[in-house]
Amino acid sequence: MTGTLVVNEIYLSLQGESTFAGLPCVFIRLTGCDLRCSYCDTAYAFTEGKKQTLADVIEKVRALAKPFKNSTLNPQPSTLPLVELTGGEPLLQKNSRPLMSALCDDGFTVLIETSGAHDISKIDPRVRRIMDLKCPSSGEVDRNLFSNLAHLKGTDEIKFVIGALEDYEWAKAQITTHKLAGLCPLLFSWVHPLAPAQQNQVLKKVPADLTPITRTELAEKIIADALPVRFQIQQHKIIWPPDQRGV
Ligand code: SF4
Repeated sequence: MTGTLVVNEIYLSLQGESTFAGLPCVFIRLTGCDLRCSYCDTAYAFTEGKKQTLADVIEKVRALAKPFKNSTLNPQPSTLPLVELTGGEPLLQKNSRPLMSALCDDGFTVLIETSGAHDISKIDPRVRRIMDLKCPSSGEVDRNLFSNLAHLKGTDEIKFVIGALEDYEWAKAQITTHKLAGLCPLLFSWVHPLAPAQQNQVLKKVPADLTPITRTELAEKIIADALPVRFQIQQHKIIWPPDQRGV
């Protein structure tokens, strides 16, 4: 396998969001993003990273996965850990797609977290695509590529990151307008406030006219409105310090 990628970090942890939350997962964080969401907790991945060959990346993933594959607790060959491409924005690097296909060929369940601002249609169909629809408080709502919705299938997931009452109303309107319920799992993820060390001047400012929403308010509104969505918090930020890297 030839080609390179600029990689920020590769590590084994627990999947923190999505319907896979809680499962062991190898994360491949790729460098670079063309958005600047107000709540971004990985601004360090905008520029920090080292060039690595695809073969090296796959080798590192295999090494991290080895204890699960060799575990005597598994009567069947383990389907864990998952492997997730994240960022940054993985789709900005063209070699992210052959990497995902190679990892699928290797027998891994492969996830990608993508901003929803780039074409997802060319991704290997075996990959589980977790795609954001950026809400108003992100400051990047104009970057949503709505043509992506036509390519989503039941194994994919749509994530709304919600930090304001207006985000909640906007997300609800998208579900109705684009008939998203039943298309794939819908995730309503509460914005965990950034730790001081995560705040970065380059991030967009939350528009001043928006009304912040607490996680309790978000949970109660979902119940009151009987929304067919999955509420979630970023569980790695509860388990570990919110600004800890590599978890
Ligand atoms: S899409 Fe937004 S949240 Fe994701 S890495 Fe880029 S700036 Fe950060």
